[in-house]
Amino acid sequence: MNSPDAEFEAVIGLEIHVQLSTETKMFCGCRLSFGDPPNTHTCPICLGHPGVLPVPNRRAIEYALLIAAALGCEVAPSSIFHRKNYFYPDNPKAYQISQFDVPIASGGNLAGVRIHRAHLEEDAAKMIHVGTSGRIQGSDASLVDFNRAGTPLVEIVTEPDLTSGAQVREWGQLLRATVRQLGVSDVNMEEGSLRCDANVSIRPKGSDQLGTKTEMKNMNSFRFLERGIEAEIERQTGILRNGGQVVQETLHFDPATGELHPLRSKEEAHDYRYMPEPDLVPVAPDSGMLEAAAAALPELPEAREARYRDELGIQEGAARLMSVETAWAEFFEGMLESEPEIEPKVAANWLTGELAAELRRQDDISLGSSPVTPANLARLVGMVQAKRVSNASAKDVLVKMVSEGADPEQVVVGEGLEQISDSGELESIVDAVIEANPGPAGEVLGGNEKAIGALVGAVMKEAGGRVDGGEVNRLLRERLTAD
Ligand SMILES: [Zn+2]
Repeated sequence: MNSPDAEFEAVIGLEIHVQLSTETKMFCGCRLSFGDPPNTHTCPICLGHPGVLPVPNRRAIEYALLIAAALGCEVAPSSIFHRKNYFYPDNPKAYQISQFDVPIASGGNLAGVRIHRAHLEEDAAKMIHVGTSGRIQGSDASLVDFNRAGTPLVEIVTEPDLTSGAQVREWGQLLRATVRQLGVSDVNMEEGSLRCDANVSIRPKGSDQLGTKTEMKNMNSFRFLERGIEAEIERQTGILRNGGQVVQETLHFDPATGELHPLRSKEEAHDYRYMPEPDLVPVAPDSGMLEAAAAALPELPEAREARYRDELGIQEGAARLMSVETAWAEFFEGMLESEPEIEPKVAANWLTGELAAELRRQDDISLGSSPVTPANLARLVGMVQAKRVSNASAKDVLVKMVSEGADPEQVVVGEGLEQISDSGELESIVDAVIEANPGPAGEVLGGNEKAIGALVGAVMKEAGGRVDGGEVNRLLRERLTAD
């Protein structure tokens, strides 16, 4: 379903709202809170009383500059706040302070998707709709929690450079990892600190005109967004193929049913009557602030993935996982730090392959709550690399490390899993197995290569898995080559 059709292609742009994790709100000193009792973090400014004066949060501007630097955006020498006028119960002043024609950041690029702009604004209050079964008995009602009102937001708008739901999910995860790495937001989609809207349209392949777009609002995971976009691409393709026209509207995708429902028609564009906010001076970051943002940039996921792949030779899937999921990257770096001589590629495979699978198998444990430490996994990998334990034994050791938090060294020594390093001992097992299996041995001697598998299996069994399969193979061939 990646391409909608042979005739049509999808064009997708994203608008991402990032709640900044500053201590206080965008224009007042109220604390940011999530999950506190409603309306306990308010003041005349964020409640929109007349005559109050907003004061910009310096930290929020610094965070916006960090995001701009991470996305390679150009920072406007002077950008101004505007009032975006609309009346809604979550917005008591009847306008939201946002940025309009000159955003703080524009241009930029993340992994090939161009960034149109990034601007600062304040969040609205949170509406809670209560039905007859809700807290207000006998009537439908909407409640407003002003704790969220005035939370600093950076809205990132991409160019319409994406073409499928899967690409949106992957890119969205990279953006989220990038913002998380900057430490400027919790980027928790379920709690709403990262919200992603997608504009989706379809056009004949090769056309440079944009079709009528629909907007998909506020999915609380990138997987649901991916599915919603795929469903919408299919719906629009069906309309166009039947000679119909797509209507511009806002849609909600229900992941439970897989259905799309219109939220509201957008045939008439809103007139927000933007006007410059007279109570705020322009945002004019000085060179010190710009330099501080550039200097504070950590290694970002995109660069980290390239380094893992190109410098450490790690396979693409593992490099991607470890760069997008910070916990995996930290675990991996911890492994290399504690056992610097292990092969990074082998370490990455044990982490993202064996350990990940074992964690899933044992009750879907998360990496963070896994009893296996980076140092312990690194030691196990080191033992495999030094051929002290076979791959097969090491996998058994790993099961114990996950279920019991066992120390790999103790399990290997305690259970006598160390490989037979004495070549005389291994040779005598090989000889005994050949003698006990004259049939297969004769076939190998007669030129049937495949028959060697039964002999390798018999040696491994005899040695309790404490031998290297390659070494057994080599010894058997040496013995069974007619000369
Ligand atoms: Zn306030």
